[in-house]
Amino acid sequence: MTAPPDVAELILLKRDGGRLDDASIEWLVGAYSRDEVPDYQMAAFLMAVYFQGLDGGELRGLTAAMVDSGERLDLSGLGRPTVDKHSTGGVGDKVSLVLAPLLAAAGAAVPQLSGRGLGHTGGTLDKLESIKGFRSDLSNDEMAEVLRSVGCVICAAGAGLAPADRRLYRLRDVTATVESIPLIASSIMSKKIAEGTESLVLDVKVGSGAFMQHEDDARRLAETMVAIGAEHGVRTTALLTRMDTPLGRAVGNAVEVEESLATLGGEGPADLVAVTLALAKEMAALAGLEADLPALLRNGAARSRFDEMVRAQGGDPAAALPQAPLRRELPAPASGFVRRLDARAVGVAAWRLGAGRAKKEDPVSASAGVVCLAKPGEPVEEGQPVLEVRAEDEARFARALEALEGALEVGPEPPELPEVVIEAIRS
Ligand code: URA
Repeated sequence: MTAPPDVAELILLKRDGGRLDDASIEWLVGAYSRDEVPDYQMAAFLMAVYFQGLDGGELRGLTAAMVDSGERLDLSGLGRPTVDKHSTGGVGDKVSLVLAPLLAAAGAAVPQLSGRGLGHTGGTLDKLESIKGFRSDLSNDEMAEVLRSVGCVICAAGAGLAPADRRLYRLRDVTATVESIPLIASSIMSKKIAEGTESLVLDVKVGSGAFMQHEDDARRLAETMVAIGAEHGVRTTALLTRMDTPLGRAVGNAVEVEESLATLGGEGPADLVAVTLALAKEMAALAGLEADLPALLRNGAARSRFDEMVRAQGGDPAAALPQAPLRRELPAPASGFVRRLDARAVGVAAWRLGAGRAKKEDPVSASAGVVCLAKPGEPVEEGQPVLEVRAEDEARFARALEALEGALEVGPEPPELPEVVIEAIRS
């Protein structure tokens, strides 16, 4: 048996700009998972990667090692093409709630394994759990059964998928090594590859409310993930989309479900519909499906799938959604046109109102949130309500209102509104 590599030498090699071979990376990730490499050495390695990056081969090796650290789901027997979507996260991003049932109605199987919210961006599971009885924690068998019977499932990723990524992410979070494009790309893609989807569309968001603030960084992240997908046999396309202002008008949990239901009834806000249909078109193309996607939204087919999915996951789609007992309205500071409504400020406000969590274990309020009564480009009169903040607890308002100071700008001229979809990156 050959001796295991010396960890300090691997760190040194990466620190000085060298490249690691597949066997070394595979060994390092495996040994860390087995507690044979301590956190302090792995942290030093991650910091070396943060500064030196990884080349294509190293990235492939790291992603493969994280996939191999756990189970890989087999979704091949469903009789429908599998296609998933992943968003890098934004404010008011409720796209999954509409997109998964829409693609199911078009003939795909959508295994949408999602997360809970952390910080100022909301989590898809928190939103769905505001529906009475809805269960996100499904076993692999339950997940496969919902997927088979309905065509879409939205649930938590099981602990068995890419467990090495979970450990590494926790370490990155406390060692200032999250914001590294190769580490983010391999982290996201390892979970999607392990999930077993044949195709994947990525929504890489750019702007004040997004993980990536600059278009160049978002493009590099998108290109890196598309390349990893191709190398691992997952057909992958990425869309860069804007996240300078909240998507739609609703930011929170139940309030975003309400807006998703309106969208599934053909009455969604224009920006949400545009992003959803652009992603849906890419998903349908990768899955080889031809469907009139706007018609499936208008004619109730997507809404029926949503209701079926909610029922299959224990929820009652007809139950009334929780409503916040306390509401305050914020007036427009002047007459004119809304020129800017800052996504991050609105996300932080919704979080402080109780819709999001600071730590993984924190509970969230189903009914708290922000409703954007006016959005960029819309005319307003001085004093007209432009934002409505909702909470369950009076004490939540002060800090939420602080976050919203200066978030909305009104001017005499309407702003130029760029298209919400910036570009597509295909392999
Ligand atoms: N989301 C992930 O899953 N991983 C990262 O590294 C960052 C965001």
